[in-house]
Amino acid sequence: MKSLVIHNKLVEIETVPDPVPHGAWVVVKVESTPICGSDKNAYLSPTPIRNAGHEGTGVVVGTAGSSLLKEGDRVILNPLSGCGECRYCRTGNYIYCPQKPAWTSHFAEYALVQDFVCTPLPEDIDFDLGSLACCALGPGMGSVRRMNVRAFDKVLITGMGPVGLGALALSKFLGAYVISVESEPYRVQLAREMGADVVLDPRDPDILQQVQAVDARTPLLKAIECSGNSKAERLCIDALEPLGMLSCCGENHTEIPIRVSEDFIRKGLTMMGNWHCSTHDAQSMYAILRRSPVVGKIITHRYGFSRVQEAFDQFMTGNTGKVIINPWQ
Ligand SMILES: [Zn+2]
Ligand SMILES: [Zn+2]
Repeated sequence: MKSLVIHNKLVEIETVPDPVPHGAWVVVKVESTPICGSDKNAYLSPTPIRNAGHEGTGVVVGTAGSSLLKEGDRVILNPLSGCGECRYCRTGNYIYCPQKPAWTSHFAEYALVQDFVCTPLPEDIDFDLGSLACCALGPGMGSVRRMNVRAFDKVLITGMGPVGLGALALSKFLGAYVISVESEPYRVQLAREMGADVVLDPRDPDILQQVQAVDARTPLLKAIECSGNSKAERLCIDALEPLGMLSCCGENHTEIPIRVSEDFIRKGLTMMGNWHCSTHDAQSMYAILRRSPVVGKIITHRYGFSRVQEAFDQFMTGNTGKVIINPWQ
């Protein structure tokens, strides 16, 4: 089968053996596989990366003892893997499982994945749209569920990349009033088209005061950080009012200063992280995919394997929402 090998800004197709199902591992014919922000690491890697790509949708074409899936099932390929036996795996939160066996690239015609990380993809949701249930909507879904985002809430969302756009679509779907923070003009425009009530520029020196001035009579008690930028994390902590909640979804591996007393004890803040949602949230995921009038706008580009270099080059410009690859075109 065809599979991608990525390094030094080069994206090449190579032929590798077809995967073979065994135990809980099933083979899925990949129909749609989005590029993730984390795939930038493969694009910039000096050494060849053969296991990039961890999102997608497809059809089960091979099983060997799976009790959950059969050939012909349409599935969402949720990211990564788990041991299948610990408390996280058993409660749908396998993403937090500390024992992750290696999985195969989803930038391939076929992927070898564990049956329990797949959720069924209903017939009335197409493959491209369904693939948004992975890293575009997963972190936002985890956030809105755990923070109980609902109608008339005011929600601050920083960073309007695919994860932020996903959080925006979810918050609007639930009836919230959304303040978005983004500087890239392409993504500012996309956020506006998707219904952000206000879009502010984080480069403005008085950004905190601007956030505080928006609809000042409604308290800001919920924020979703999707940029991974330390200044945006600080902005969320400072902008939230007492007893507010912050969900961090943007990856940031650096340390940021926290003042426990001022930031947390004396404000009563709750800070959490959301890497993905639970597989038990599938019904909520279907609801937004079926009924949100804007969720499909997160997808801005589609490419086949024949133009896969262009797909990655375009994604790296930042002038995209979600970029989707079809290995069979
Ligand atoms: Zn991802
Ligand atoms: Zn586990």
